[in-house]
Amino acid sequence: MSAISTIDEKVLVLNRGYSAVRIVPARHAFTLLCREAAEILSIENGNYLTYGLHDWMDVAKLQKEFEPEKHTWLRLPSLEIAIPKIIRLLTYDKFVKPEVRLTRRNLFSRDKNKCQYCGKRFSATDLTLDHVVPRVQGGGNSWSNLVCACMKCNTKKGGRTPRQASMQLIQKPFKPLHCEARKLRIGPIQYKSWKSFLQNAYWSIELVED
Ligand SMILES: [Zn+2]
Repeated sequence: MSAISTIDEKVLVLNRGYSAVRIVPARHAFTLLCREAAEILSIENGNYLTYGLHDWMDVAKLQKEFEPEKHTWLRLPSLEIAIPKIIRLLTYDKFVKPEVRLTRRNLFSRDKNKCQYCGKRFSATDLTLDHVVPRVQGGGNSWSNLVCACMKCNTKKGGRTPRQASMQLIQKPFKPLHCEARKLRIGPIQYKSWKSFLQNAYWSIELVED
């Protein structure tokens, strides 16, 4: 493989908390590694090992000798280096905007498609949004006043507050800190080692298709 094609190999980026946030081409991953904004995460015999770029260059010789087929190699005139499969950001996440927009999709995602009154999970098409304090009583659109509700619960509650309707929220509605699922653009899983980091994300992605 030429250096030009391998530089576009896909690398999974995790945030500091080991959640998948994005897949980037290798050249982007190397830029982050050069800036020491990320470290390489390598899963070896079930253990997570981390490397800075220089350590990774040091182990290249061993990898080349003992497991050349395990890696995709970036071959430059002066050096040969394995393309990491996973990197982890060391700085605060540049990919994730701090503000999550108040949208139907993000609300469904926060509530995990569960009716916040009966606690049952529904498909997006069978869920509605409920104003906890109804609009007629001055309740507005906000993270703390909008929740997912199934048709049945929403109808039962009508234009009343939960207290007036003698209904209870299963959790206090909150504003999510960030929304990784929306940022993630994933094709097929490229490497087995990505799997454990992506299962969560896949689950969330399913929810946002409304
Ligand atoms: Zn319900």
